[in-house]
Amino acid sequence: MDTLLRTHNRLELIHPLHGFFERHNLSSSPRSQTQKWHRRSLASPKTSGKAALLELVPETKKENLEFDLPLYDPSKRPGLDLVVVGGGPAGLAVAQRVSEAGLSVCSIDPSPRLIWPNNYGVWVDEFESMGLLDCLDTTWSGAVVYVDETTEKRLDRPYARVNRKQLKSKMMQKCVSNGVQFHQARVVKVIHEDSKSILICNDGMTLEATVVLDATGFSRCLVQYDEPYNPGYQVAYGILAEVEEHPFELDKMVFMDWRDSHLKGKRELKERNDKLPTFLYAMPFDSKRIFLEETSLVARPGLAMEDIQERMVARLKHLGIKVTSIEEDERCVIPMGGPLPVLPQRVVGIGGTAGMVHPSTGYMVARTLAAAPIVADSIVRYLGSEKRLIGDEFSAEVWKELWPIERRRQREFFCFGMDILLKLDLEGTRRFFDAFFDLEPRYWHGFLSSRLFLPELLFFGLSLFSHASNTSRLEIMAKGTLPLVNMINNLVRERD
Ligand SMILES: Cc1cc2nc3c(=O)[nH]c(=O)nc-3n(C[C@H](O)[C@H](O)[C@H](O)COP(=O)(O)OP(=O)(O)OC[C@H]3O[C@@H](n4cnc5c(N)ncnc54)[C@H](O)[C@@H]3O)c2cc1C
Repeated sequence: MDTLLRTHNRLELIHPLHGFFERHNLSSSPRSQTQKWHRRSLASPKTSGKAALLELVPETKKENLEFDLPLYDPSKRPGLDLVVVGGGPAGLAVAQRVSEAGLSVCSIDPSPRLIWPNNYGVWVDEFESMGLLDCLDTTWSGAVVYVDETTEKRLDRPYARVNRKQLKSKMMQKCVSNGVQFHQARVVKVIHEDSKSILICNDGMTLEATVVLDATGFSRCLVQYDEPYNPGYQVAYGILAEVEEHPFELDKMVFMDWRDSHLKGKRELKERNDKLPTFLYAMPFDSKRIFLEETSLVARPGLAMEDIQERMVARLKHLGIKVTSIEEDERCVIPMGGPLPVLPQRVVGIGGTAGMVHPSTGYMVARTLAAAPIVADSIVRYLGSEKRLIGDEFSAEVWKELWPIERRRQREFFCFGMDILLKLDLEGTRRFFDAFFDLEPRYWHGFLSSRLFLPELLFFGLSLFSHASNTSRLEIMAKGTLPLVNMINNLVRERD
């Protein structure tokens, strides 16, 4: 019997982010807005600092890849092995690998040629281990964390900005040469039958496939959740700007700048920042070109975009950074933590839709690209093998490989980390990162790159506790006890 899961329209009505983007002065898409340079008008001396900055933001001009895409032709091959819904990094990585094994794949996305808009930052070792060094455009030999006005941590770990045009081109080229077909549309509905699923798009096209992969990012188009969706939110405002000058070293990126001397004399802003702190993340490309992002690491509910922009303007002024033009701006809203989707379920998922964002950091791109071969190989194995599985049985095996028990436990621990961060004010956050970046590199690298599993994570926790100041220990005990109990309960439930 056909089963109607949920339609895109229904999803929009009940979407947990419904209204969030309006409140945060964002476009209806949860994605960032990345734009080509075109100066609108220079700020008049009367405009406030924030308004002056925003007036430099260019008109939207989306950049597309020059590609002849093989389009899906239902008359030639109606039934597909796999349809990938969403052409972000997660979806394309799986499409590329499954098609390499000879299975028929179609990728559906409303803008398949559009260069991904986000400014992705990654640790170089993460991309090196995947053979993707050619997809980095700028690298820094290390990073700096300004804990406060007097404490600075120098991180001896190279960092890079992803060359998103090169990464997408590389993946698309492989997809095209492996025979992936593309359909430019938005999926609105999926109907499951015993051995196949039917996808309905907003242009009226229907596609039939043995397997459907939801890779629609944080819009979570098809994957089902059965628990209240209550994530924390990372909210950030970033600009890629030309500046008269900036004070940062060119061979280091600024991973976090928690200094707040720019708020001296701004009582209201300072009070807000003391309670719900934001930091500056910066990637200096040269002495006049820099990516600057004011970031709220995690808060529930998320901070308002206007608040973040106001703090950024105050910080830039204090640092003596005069912006002369803005090449792109990025409004970032990343849901962090919250429940995993129903495991297992008929539609398989990867990336933002499948709960893969790191709950304590908001990072995901490296982890997703590393997980794509696992999901793809599992699809190939269970579709192509002698004991071919179909329907729910098939999906259960794929979900098991994406979210094995070790990964679910790891995520519980990261959610515990997020729950503590949610409770820390500026001083608490500073104490936390002061201890965190004093840990042995294998611990902090492993935590940030999702390479630590239980029981190593427990040693990580003990080590963090032993590096913490007495005040911080008391704080972790006071604010971490309830999250700890929740985590233990969840871990016990997972075991059952
Ligand atoms: C502004 C921003 C900056 C970020 N920076 C970093 C970073 O520096 N480092 C890092 O590790 N992570 C970062 N992240 C987090 C995460 O890595 C990204 O969100 C990443 O793009 C998620 O990849 P994805 O493929 O899961 O989803 P997405 O990249 O969001 O791709 C989803 C695709 O699905 C399409 N789609 C949506 N609905 C439908 C539908 N109904 N039918 C068909 N297609 C649909 C969308 O158009 C989109 O192309 C950032 C996130 C944001 C928002």
